[in-house]
Amino acid sequence: MKKLIFATQNEHKMLEIREILKDLPYEILSMKEAGLDIDVVEDGATFEENAIKKAKEIMEVTGELVLADDSGLEIDYLNKEPGIYSARYLGKDTPYLKKNQIILNRLVNAKGDERSARFICVIAAVYPDGRVLTGRGTIEGVIGDKITGENGFGYDPIFLVPELGITTAQMEPEVKNSISHRGKALRKIKTQME
Ligand code: IMP
Repeated sequence: MKKLIFATQNEHKMLEIREILKDLPYEILSMKEAGLDIDVVEDGATFEENAIKKAKEIMEVTGELVLADDSGLEIDYLNKEPGIYSARYLGKDTPYLKKNQIILNRLVNAKGDERSARFICVIAAVYPDGRVLTGRGTIEGVIGDKITGENGFGYDPIFLVPELGITTAQMEPEVKNSISHRGKALRKIKTQME
């Protein structure tokens, strides 16, 4: 079977990615499984630039097809922060329980529509011949008023999807994958790869 490397160190993302790409005719290797310990500097100005940069650098080292994602949360009340800085926001090593609590405090005066937010994900695929594909997905929601749910990762416990009345941290993985930014972006890439 052909193989591809997914350039992320995030085990939670890897679980979502494997589930969504499981019917592609590729063996999917994480960076760890490919024996790679490379930290790509995410200094692009957009999700697209960062995703392409990550995939390209790893493709150049391995010579394999590489997929990478760059994702984040935009909160309208915070001028679309943390955006592309979502992983580093409030400190790279600060536990998400604390980060989420700080965000809730910053939004204490935000009411109704003022709490709007979205997750964004861009997936880039870079082939050994240099061909580049990208796919973007978003999911709209609001910042909830408390930390809720145990599933998922990162900002999921404060990201409420109004249509379902639950946070992405309260969703079963299949439900999150079917509506999430990452699910949508991966399905866009998949159709271009098939
Ligand atoms: P990246 O590894 O640079 O793409 O960082 C993305 C960051 O955005 C993650 O570390 C999380 O903080 C946040 N994020 C992206 N996708 C999700 C998600 O599905 N749920 C919760 N947080 C997410």
